[in-house]
Amino acid sequence: MKNYTDTYQHKGLRKRLAAQLREKGIRDENILQAIETIPRHFFLDSAFDKIAYEDRAFPIGEGQTISQPYTVAYQTELLQVKKGHKVLEIGTGSIYQASVLSEMGARVFTIERQKKLYEKNKSFIFKNKYPNIKFFFGDGFEGLPSFAPFERILITAAAPHIPPKLLEQLKVGGIMVIPLDEGQKQHMLRITKVSQTEINEEYFGYFSFVPMLSGKK
Ligand code: SAH
Repeated sequence: MKNYTDTYQHKGLRKRLAAQLREKGIRDENILQAIETIPRHFFLDSAFDKIAYEDRAFPIGEGQTISQPYTVAYQTELLQVKKGHKVLEIGTGSIYQASVLSEMGARVFTIERQKKLYEKNKSFIFKNKYPNIKFFFGDGFEGLPSFAPFERILITAAAPHIPPKLLEQLKVGGIMVIPLDEGQKQHMLRITKVSQTEINEEYFGYFSFVPMLSGKK
């Protein structure tokens, strides 16, 4: 069951969450604004209503999670999203990350490999606020060749390696953010596609994600 009422209390908790993320080092005001705007509790079962604005990951069913707000903000900041950017997201999950990107003015293409989550998302009415998110059921390792190239690509699951097809589908000058799996933890990697054959790699902190798995389910 979901609760679609947004009270002053929820709004206050969101403001506090945005302030916490600022304290933790998030600088992009557009991201903080998006987090302050989007009712995260809408994306969770009403059982989580009281704790939805804690800086934590929560289960969303099918063994998957909605990422921790800090992780969402951190990945989004590395992605350097600008209004109008065409962004590919791997791992739709709860649609929260896609909503943040959309709220910031990006055109979002998001892929989910689990049919149950993909179907569940169809009935999530809040997504109607973001007509610039396009939903796909498929394997993120394949990307979306018919919609490529993308200016930004964001992977929101632990990737075992840099997916070659995604690199192909990244525009020259574009940025891809990947939590690269190193066993227990993932090392956050930002790739800039310098030319058709050259990439620049930068490593950031360690995070924890559910695995990026191949094939559909
Ligand atoms: N971005 C999500 C976080 C979801 S967790 C949010 O904001 O809620 C990661 C998601 O990636 C899960 O839903 C999982 O099913 C999905 N996933 C894992 N491997 C995938 C793949 N190869 N292609 C597409 N989605 C994948």
